[in-house]
Amino acid sequence: MICNGIDFDTYFQQYPDAQGYFGKYGGVYIDENLKAAMQEITKAYFSICQSRKFIAELRRIRAEFQGRPTPISHLERLSGYLGGEVQLYAKREDLNHSGAHKLNHCMGEALLAKYMGKKKVIAETGAGQHGVALATAAAYFGLECDIYMGSVDIKKQAPNVARMKLLGANVVEVTHGLQTLKEAVDAAFEAYSKEYKDAIYCIGSVLGPHPFPMMVRDFQSVVGIEAREQFVQMTGHLPDSIVACVGGGSNAAGLFAGFLNDPVEIFGVEPLGRGKKLGDHAASLTYGTEGVMHGFNSIMLKDENGEPAPVYSIASGLDYPSSGPEHAFLKDIGRVKYDTVDDEETLEAFYKLSRLEGIIPAIESSHALAFAMRLAKQMDHGSILVNLSGRGDKDMDYVIEKYGIRE
Ligand SMILES: *Cc1c(COP(=O)(O)O)cnc(C)c1O
Repeated sequence: MICNGIDFDTYFQQYPDAQGYFGKYGGVYIDENLKAAMQEITKAYFSICQSRKFIAELRRIRAEFQGRPTPISHLERLSGYLGGEVQLYAKREDLNHSGAHKLNHCMGEALLAKYMGKKKVIAETGAGQHGVALATAAAYFGLECDIYMGSVDIKKQAPNVARMKLLGANVVEVTHGLQTLKEAVDAAFEAYSKEYKDAIYCIGSVLGPHPFPMMVRDFQSVVGIEAREQFVQMTGHLPDSIVACVGGGSNAAGLFAGFLNDPVEIFGVEPLGRGKKLGDHAASLTYGTEGVMHGFNSIMLKDENGEPAPVYSIASGLDYPSSGPEHAFLKDIGRVKYDTVDDEETLEAFYKLSRLEGIIPAIESSHALAFAMRLAKQMDHGSILVNLSGRGDKDMDYVIEKYGIRE
């Protein structure tokens, strides 16, 4: 498959390049001492990820601990409801241990930490999903785990804070500024710059300086590799289209990796929230412009001072003012199309999947599903595979309190 001069036969050997760039996006925009730490991780990753022992151990963990491969489900009743001409399928990352795709890269990052002889993993968390996944991985490997979290988020996300503590993580409260994700990122980076000899920073998506966008994609690619094989075995052909929601972009990058070289239409779905006005959505690829934040160059939403803009989405996991550099690149060359759905369309999909299929999806994943439902109505036949990145238990209380039970 060749798209705008990019040959997807050799794509993974060429992107990112040695400096961590996907075209003009990516790179390492951080302080010098942390640059050295990133180089150490890059070097270790390139040698360790080739080692048979590492690959075999990760494979064993995926099967015995995570419960992989996760299945693909044919959404027959939902397809029938949409007219029955187009068949919808879901890759069930909601059935991955701990209920979402995030554990795929956290287990990889923590195993890498262990191979590098590190004692501790460090990260920030907003809604707490990444913190819980990393705390799970740290408990499994017996690593210390420091999770930086703003005071406001700690109050809002009490169940996830309890989970992290139960799993043995040290939740470090960040009390300055707005006391949310941005301050938590700064505090975690600051701590890491003092502790990088003994610790490794584990980024929660295909974001941050090189090698994280590449490494997290590679660890998530298990989703796409499994899905391609399962889908062909189940139906005898490839899907016409695949769809995933894009916050930072890790579940999407993982699914897409399995299909980039195939004649398959690929869609990334961003949250349009309450509407198109800056501050009402988090559709960074759709409405953003090129810029550097959190250590990498990508497309981002900026305020009038060029700083990361405030963003909003009903899904806290999609609430981020940029997306990974590989998505910015795939958008520019036209290999992946990025589109948006708003909160209302998302809720509709959330209720429909629950009622018609017996699957309560994460509100993040409901964005992908909502787009697939829209797409199905526009196609006259064919098949669509949706990445169901997580389960909706975490969203139940909020959705029911705010919107009630709907059909
Ligand atoms: C965190 C999260 C996302 C968004 O993260 P990506 O890196 O864009 O995949 C999507 N779905 C679920 C269930 C999540 O927990």
